[in-house]
Amino acid sequence: MNLKDTIRTIPDFPKKGIMFRDVTTLMTNRHAFAESIIQMCKPYQKMIIDNVVGIEARGFVFGAAAAYELGAGFVPVRKKGKLPFDTYEQDYDLEYGTDTLELHADAVRAQEKILLVDDLIATGGTAEAAIKVLRRAGANIIGAAFVIDLPELGGRKRIEAMGVAVTTLVEFEGH
Ligand code: AMP
Repeated sequence: MNLKDTIRTIPDFPKKGIMFRDVTTLMTNRHAFAESIIQMCKPYQKMIIDNVVGIEARGFVFGAAAAYELGAGFVPVRKKGKLPFDTYEQDYDLEYGTDTLELHADAVRAQEKILLVDDLIATGGTAEAAIKVLRRAGANIIGAAFVIDLPELGGRKRIEAMGVAVTTLVEFEGH
């Protein structure tokens, strides 16, 4: 099973120059989806993970399946304004402007062991914001797992520099 071949690439989406790596074609392939979850969880199988934290929205799909596989709970990190209870917030820079991620203030207890999950790491700005908001809650972040790495954008190094181990399944060149 070559997971990379199941991911569709859409050139110039959502804007010119971006090669959009579309994981919906991996998700709809039952063999590829199962394989991606097995591979994603493998480095963490022998560890205790209390909660998997998924980043909205594709991180929910892989994160929830990984939580089930690891016997962990699931916690969502969402874009501002979606979570109904008290939250911790973290702003992060986009190419144009800023955005904000939120975590329910009572979702993660101090020292809880967390695996962060998203579909793709590019610059690492989104994952960095998620790590910051989790650390504010006192989380012990065991690792950050992604299906896709775009190594030229440097996200892995940025997250490793924060002291968080990064695992990824496939790499694509470019943006
Ligand atoms: P970044 O914060 O730069 O690491 O970007 C990661 C977030 O943006 C993830 O939630 C991805 O789903 C999305 N993303 C960034 N670049 C791409 C791309 N080329 N194809 C698909 N999704 C992307």
